[in-house]
Amino acid sequence: MTLSAFLDSSPTAFHGAQTLLSQLQDAGFLLLKEHDAWDLQPGGKYCVARRDRGVAAFVVGQQVPWEGGFHLAGAHLDSPAWKAKVEALQPHHGTWKLPVEAYGGPIYRTWLDRDLELAGQVCFRHKGEVQTQLWRSGPGFALIPSLAIHLDRGVNGGAELNPQDHMNALLSIPVEDENTNPILQKLCDDLALQEPDILGTELYLIPSEKAQIQGDSQERILSGRLDDLAMAHALVQGLVQSKDSPQKTSMALWFDAEEIGSRTDTGALSPFMDEMMERLVLSAGGGREELLRSRRHSLLLSCDMAHAVHPNYEGKHDPRYVPTLGKGPVIKAHAQRKYATDGVSEAIIKNIAMNAEVQLQKILSRSDAPCGSTIGPLSQSLTGVVTVDMGNPIWGMHSARETASLQDQEAMIRLLSHYWS
Ligand SMILES: [Zn+2]
Repeated sequence: MTLSAFLDSSPTAFHGAQTLLSQLQDAGFLLLKEHDAWDLQPGGKYCVARRDRGVAAFVVGQQVPWEGGFHLAGAHLDSPAWKAKVEALQPHHGTWKLPVEAYGGPIYRTWLDRDLELAGQVCFRHKGEVQTQLWRSGPGFALIPSLAIHLDRGVNGGAELNPQDHMNALLSIPVEDENTNPILQKLCDDLALQEPDILGTELYLIPSEKAQIQGDSQERILSGRLDDLAMAHALVQGLVQSKDSPQKTSMALWFDAEEIGSRTDTGALSPFMDEMMERLVLSAGGGREELLRSRRHSLLLSCDMAHAVHPNYEGKHDPRYVPTLGKGPVIKAHAQRKYATDGVSEAIIKNIAMNAEVQLQKILSRSDAPCGSTIGPLSQSLTGVVTVDMGNPIWGMHSARETASLQDQEAMIRLLSHYWS
């Protein structure tokens, strides 16, 4: 699947997980359920979903994990968006006004004047049980108009956008019956439900514009959610393209909730990764000691996007560390360990990259600037697995429309497939 198709079919973490599972199963990975007993075979390929929003996939190595370790890589499926307050929908001056909450840290102004759709998970009662279903409205559902410059002469100086007051989305559905919530009505129509049966929703506004390729030689890709679906895509492609029957056990993990701190049941602070490792150890006949030994043999590549130098703001970077679009994946490190990379893990990934003939870049923040963080330090502190933080360079991180390089995407896939072969 191309990166464009992956982005377009994954508006939310729920949809991203579904896209991954169908890709993995098409490539011969057997879908396991976490509550079943597992009977895993060396060379076998398996995938598992946790609560529809976290995914793990693994290829069981020829060596037992306490001798060969796990070759791990992780990315995240969630991206900044606007979570809909569905019950608070109100008619206002002839249009439906949908209040929203920020999910993660979107750049507010980039969401104005864009065609938006609503997507996520619907929970409903069916034959006395709670069931869930993914749903997306399709394009043309809503927008958040900006205020005219004539009514705010300071707008180009950086007008404040208050999420409670200024980011309400206006639906394209006309106001006909003020007493009927048209979102719930549309859910009922689309999913063949009765309104009292809808018991919960988790719906997000996302830009509906599809990913676009720019440049004669297909250099750039523009899309929402490149952070971190580009790395999520690289992981699945790298795993599917790796050689069969590796010596070491390969494992890819796709977490949720990175944008909101990872402290959930499917985030990097959850036991998801460690439980997957433990189950593989148990299934191979090992116990607690073998799990501890396995961790000491393992490596985690924490893959999340990095800031490419912006030619209009080059002073934002340390001039000696200027990741550039198209020049390869970026190693991320930080003295305060906001990134997990240390000298040893940096050397290990450089060695893997040399063997895979992939050129790497490196970023250290300006010494007077704050630094972001990601899943690497969290997974590392939970398991003690040697970890490197890395990711492809991107412009406009957390914009509704980000920019990355397809050459870098190919390089990352090549690196991962080599790592797992
Ligand atoms: Zn990210």
